Amino acid sequence: MSDRPSTEIAMRSVPCNLCGSDDTRTIRESTGEGRIVRCRRCQLTYVSPRIAWDPVAQYESDEYHEKGELATGRPGYTSYSSDRPVLSPYFGRIAAEIARVKPGGKVLEIGAASGFFLEQARAHGLDPAGIEPSRACQRIIREELGIPVLAGSLEEAAIEPGTFDAVALFQTIEHFDDPLAGLQKMASALKPGGLIVITTPNQAGWFARIARRQWYEYKPKEHLYYFTPRTLARMLEAAGFERIEAKVDPNRYPVAFLIERISRYYPVARPVMRVLDRLLPQSLQARLYLPVHYGSMKVTARRAGMA
Ligand SMILES: [Zn+2]
Repeated sequence: MSDRPSTEIAMRSVPCNLCGSDDTRTIRESTGEGRIVRCRRCQLTYVSPRIAWDPVAQYESDEYHEKGELATGRPGYTSYSSDRPVLSPYFGRIAAEIARVKPGGKVLEIGAASGFFLEQARAHGLDPAGIEPSRACQRIIREELGIPVLAGSLEEAAIEPGTFDAVALFQTIEHFDDPLAGLQKMASALKPGGLIVITTPNQAGWFARIARRQWYEYKPKEHLYYFTPRTLARMLEAAGFERIEAKVDPNRYPVAFLIERISRYYPVARPVMRVLDRLLPQSLQARLYLPVHYGSMKVTARRAGMA
């Protein structure tokens, strides 16, 4: 007998969040981080069994936000706070779209991180509020930006039904333990006809299809769900949404940023990046933005009922 303390991690099996079935096939074998499976009945892909931990405790850690995964889910984002030049224009475009549909509306962001979107929402005449578990981020939103923020998770938040004109969540829904319940709560937080905007990795996107099992978004400790436009649309319908539209979700990055991140993550490309770095003047590298599409999708829908 060993007297070493147990290092076994508690794992928890869950049925399909969309159709309730537990008839699945394995997409990626368990590595001690959770097994990625696909429901044979509705095709939803999710992690089961999964590590039985408390998501709030996980996201409360400030290191998590420094890693930046929650903010974008994209490779190459190592420090959320230093990504303002990339994220602020991106969120500005989304805030402008929301403001066109719901001018002056009350908008709630789930997983507000450092508040870059909330700031842009206010700049576009919207009335923003956030939900955010990280205490460090809550402080930035409340004290530095002066925007109201609810502490904790969506599950815990007490939201008066029918309060908001729009709800937004960016690279967040894939982290939920129970996304259907989350979407139902968002539907209830919205006024009838209220707008929801979701970005999340697209499992039917070009990168996922090429990479197959090696898709970088397969991170079973963090990403518990892998949606396609179809599975997310079905879940939105089940939660009381209609007029569902899925689009691609590209972003624009400064050349300097792309050269630095590609060099860091793809050693094979370093010689080429070094040549580009030498050829292109630094001022141009900072000013010139290139559109890049990693295979994220942007899905919008309306809460059922009259607008
Ligand atoms: Zn299913």
